[in-house]
Amino acid sequence: MTTIHTLGFPRMGAQRELKFALERHWRGEIDAAALEAVGRELRARHWQLQRDAGLDFVTVGDFAFYDHVANHVQLLGCEPARFGFAGDEPALARYFTLARGVASETGAAGSGRPALEMTKWFDTNYHYLVPEFTPETAFSLAEERLFAEVDEALALGHRVKAVLLGPLSFLWLGKEKSAGFARIELLERLLPVYQQILVRLKAQGVDWVQIDEPILGLDLPPAWRQAFEPAYSGLAKSGVSLLLATYFSPLQENLALACRLPVHGLHIDGIRAAQEVAAIADWLPVHKVLSLGILDGRNIWRADLDAALKLLRAVREVRQCDLWLAPSCSLLHVPFSVAGESGLDAELRSWLAFAVEKLAELRVLKLALAGDGAADAALAESRQAIQSRRASQRVTDARVSARLAALPADADRRPSPFPARQAAQRARFGLPLLPTTSIGSFPQTAEIRSARAAFKRGQLAATDYQRAMEKEIAHVVAVQEELGIDVLVHGEPERNDMVEYFGEQLAGFCFTANGWVQSYGSRCVKPPIIYGDVSRPQAMTVSWTTHAQSLTEKPMKGMLTGPITILQWSFVRDDQPRSTTAEQIALAIRDEVVDLERAGIGIIQIDEPAIREGLPLRREAWRDYLAWATRAFRLSASGVGDATQIHTHMCYSEFNDILPEIAAMDADVITIETSRSDMELLHAFGEFKYPNEIGPGVYDIHSPRVPSREEMVCLLQKALETIPAGNLWVNPDCGLKTRAWPETLAALRNMVAAAKTLRLTA
Ligand code: GLN
Ligand code: ZN
Repeated sequence: MTTIHTLGFPRMGAQRELKFALERHWRGEIDAAALEAVGRELRARHWQLQRDAGLDFVTVGDFAFYDHVANHVQLLGCEPARFGFAGDEPALARYFTLARGVASETGAAGSGRPALEMTKWFDTNYHYLVPEFTPETAFSLAEERLFAEVDEALALGHRVKAVLLGPLSFLWLGKEKSAGFARIELLERLLPVYQQILVRLKAQGVDWVQIDEPILGLDLPPAWRQAFEPAYSGLAKSGVSLLLATYFSPLQENLALACRLPVHGLHIDGIRAAQEVAAIADWLPVHKVLSLGILDGRNIWRADLDAALKLLRAVREVRQCDLWLAPSCSLLHVPFSVAGESGLDAELRSWLAFAVEKLAELRVLKLALAGDGAADAALAESRQAIQSRRASQRVTDARVSARLAALPADADRRPSPFPARQAAQRARFGLPLLPTTSIGSFPQTAEIRSARAAFKRGQLAATDYQRAMEKEIAHVVAVQEELGIDVLVHGEPERNDMVEYFGEQLAGFCFTANGWVQSYGSRCVKPPIIYGDVSRPQAMTVSWTTHAQSLTEKPMKGMLTGPITILQWSFVRDDQPRSTTAEQIALAIRDEVVDLERAGIGIIQIDEPAIREGLPLRREAWRDYLAWATRAFRLSASGVGDATQIHTHMCYSEFNDILPEIAAMDADVITIETSRSDMELLHAFGEFKYPNEIGPGVYDIHSPRVPSREEMVCLLQKALETIPAGNLWVNPDCGLKTRAWPETLAALRNMVAAAKTLRLTA
């Protein structure tokens, strides 16, 4: 017997219904009851899809109006005291306050109630809200939502598997808000509440609870590892069957522990932990259920069902007992359905499987394992699609592989070391001490957005569009000249998104119409799909950049997105290593860099905000990743002469532990987000003696607040304690595209004034 299920399903709805309802609710256009009705409707639809696909359970508890970790903050009764909720505030209103904060009435710093911090969910592009813990944090079963959803599903006649984030992962994902205490100490207080929840679910008629402990795939400190057995021994007493779910990463040293825990079943990620399947099939006692995450929940490719069946038959051979099948992780990380992607041709479409299609693949696997001929047609179709993708001329481009194979060993090295380049660049540009610049984008006004949209829809002629963008560029150039900025940018008005803009012009990429994935709250992203060898048919930015340069005597900085960021924010091929795809993108960007140089652009920025987030979950895999990631960056940057200045930019990240690798990127100038950390981030750069030039952001672009000249002088003085004046640049934290013009002008004016003040003394 095979049981099929999913760890979770996308929440937004086929047409992002949840997003639009949430935003209407936040604007005050629909009340809580109307929003709840939309949620109920979506859950009902998504459960029905699971049932129609023949899943043996529907999964309940994966839905959230903002984020599932925030749901647990309420379920477990640990809303932080700092929010000061009054007893009569409705749960949903409190929930949105946790998620979105409350602006202060006066606008003064320190007032208002800032939202829970948000951070990336493991190595995905989903962001969760970070629970806050203090020694006083207490827990209680405080919220009925989960139980109500279970009742909803039962009333619709479904067989229910409930899902909870496990107690250890919940604590791990949170943050201590006071010194001298470790959040693991709260476990003892937390477990009785989990126990109560499980007992309640059992009483509702739920037999199986999936309890997610993805942290079993991380490098855990001993205290955390040791906490699992006692915790789960306690939870085993609830009477409900627990399926312990792990995903995203191999279990490695936690493998024996995971197999041993007193639970009724174990789910493993058969994609990311493929190398452990055989061992677990062998070691997991046969009285426990093995749930194999056999379909890739992190990617959009149709599965090779023959290969999957071969593996599954081998596992069945070893275990001689029931097997559960599921996607590797929750389907939260893939778009809803391929149906309706009529913009993609039939061949490309046949290669894809989003959430709905993955459910269908599970059913085919189940039927095929049972020897049911009903699977034959679907298997044949799947086989056909796999073969078509493997053999397709669109996937492989012999010129790309030949070029990679023929790369000289020093292709990722600039002709001279940094000091020689610095001298050549100083002689060429003659910039003042503490040169000022910005990160690339300027305010994207409604006018710009609508011109771009009209052009895309074919309602604005190419020449009119070009004229509109050139007008904007001229404005941005004039503004920067008037402000007295030293290195100008063209403002990026022609770009909707820093990855999409390049993906649309590169071979090997395609775009869906509706392939949205939740990023956080109501925010969704539509990642490009890299399906084939990547190359650059023609220049992508040269004409905009040279046009901008023609308007000014000052250096105009060319603006590109780096290979790792493009890779990281796309769905990528699963038929070659990520490093190979990164290399291909790097060469395409390199072509652009070289063309910009040839067209007379002397300063070129290659943005890599996603380098840090690409780090593998396991530390032992960092070195390998950083080696190929930094090499890809250097490949993209190294086709130019000494006098061409390469910049890179990264948003807020911890750099401390990867500084040697950041330095190994060997950009002439790096600009980083630092103002929110009060320049603290820079200490590491100073201690490490970071060799090249650096522009720590002097003001936060996430808020409309205009920093004063004095404030920025202060920050720069702090920076000068660690960075030699000759290596220091002055710039905002990040691009300005989400800001409005008035605050942008005021802030940049103060920034230039701050640089000028310091030039007199530094
Ligand atoms: N050049 C981009 C911009 O200014 C950089 C964006 C980013 O770092 N995320 O918008
Ligand atoms: Zn940035």
